[in-house]
Amino acid sequence: MVTSIQDSTTLRNGVRMPWLGLGVWKTQDGEEVEHAVRAAIEAGYRSIDTAAIYGNEAGVGRGIKVSGVNREDLFITTKVWNDDQGYESTLQAFETSRQKLGVEYLDLYLVHWPGTSKYIETYRALEKLYKDGLVKAIGVSNFLVHHLEELIANCEIKPMVNQVEYHPLLNQQELYNYCKQEGIQLEAWSPLMQGNLDLPLLTELATKYQKSPAQIVLRWDIQQGVVTIPKSIRAERIQENGNIFDFELSNDDMKRLNTLNEDKRFGPHPDKFVF
Ligand code: NDP
Repeated sequence: MVTSIQDSTTLRNGVRMPWLGLGVWKTQDGEEVEHAVRAAIEAGYRSIDTAAIYGNEAGVGRGIKVSGVNREDLFITTKVWNDDQGYESTLQAFETSRQKLGVEYLDLYLVHWPGTSKYIETYRALEKLYKDGLVKAIGVSNFLVHHLEELIANCEIKPMVNQVEYHPLLNQQELYNYCKQEGIQLEAWSPLMQGNLDLPLLTELATKYQKSPAQIVLRWDIQQGVVTIPKSIRAERIQENGNIFDFELSNDDMKRLNTLNEDKRFGPHPDKFVF
């Protein structure tokens, strides 16, 4: 049972990745993101998820520097954006992200979206960065089973993580099972359905466990072995989202939450987001 905010999963290469991290999409660069990162680290978070396209890597970097926590105790993820796909351009994009973040190495670097034609050469650049020791783990985001099959057939180092939209209304059972079978750690983006938490079962379980609907969903992720990265810019919600390690959902309640699936996406479908 996962009982601490700093508990982690072990990726295929032995690297430890915290079950909970802070997401910073739509968090503004500067004060706002620095404040969110500092609040998260003070609340015990050790993992931050950003991306080049979020435009806030510099603020994330400042937030982690002033936190006073050692770099090696933090887990920092960023992602190569679609326009930078390709071998050389990905190497350059990585260097730009690394400098903005002000770090020697990244913990996890992801291909942000598959697109159609370039993700294999993009991923080869990630393999190089991994072999050069500039990133501790590599992976992908928004990859469906068919993307993963094609990538695995053509890569040297299997992706360690797949970060996808994942929440009670989109529980991606086929992808979940495939990633489990292949030893790819699944990570949930928009775990809080972008704040759309007003579902009767969540309200019922929140009352039952004396927790909030957000806490019920985040605990459901972790109990299924899914890493989760809720976003908030408010210190009290950041704390609330981190306060999920002192209770356990029953098997029956886990099953009930699994019945909410409607294949509903708040973000784009990976096969339709082509570039
Ligand atoms: P989330 O599902 O995490 O929801 C964030 C929203 O919920 C915000 O509006 C926030 O508001 C609100 N919220 C946060 N905590 C609570 C709470 N306890 N109760 C009620 N409302 C709450 O959405 P995101 O889309 O941001 O996803 C999380 C992270 O996943 C992103 O920040 C990003 O790091 C990553 N991501 C990755 C993608 C990819 O393609 N790889 C795509 C999308 C996201 P407020 O901030 O005002 O508290």
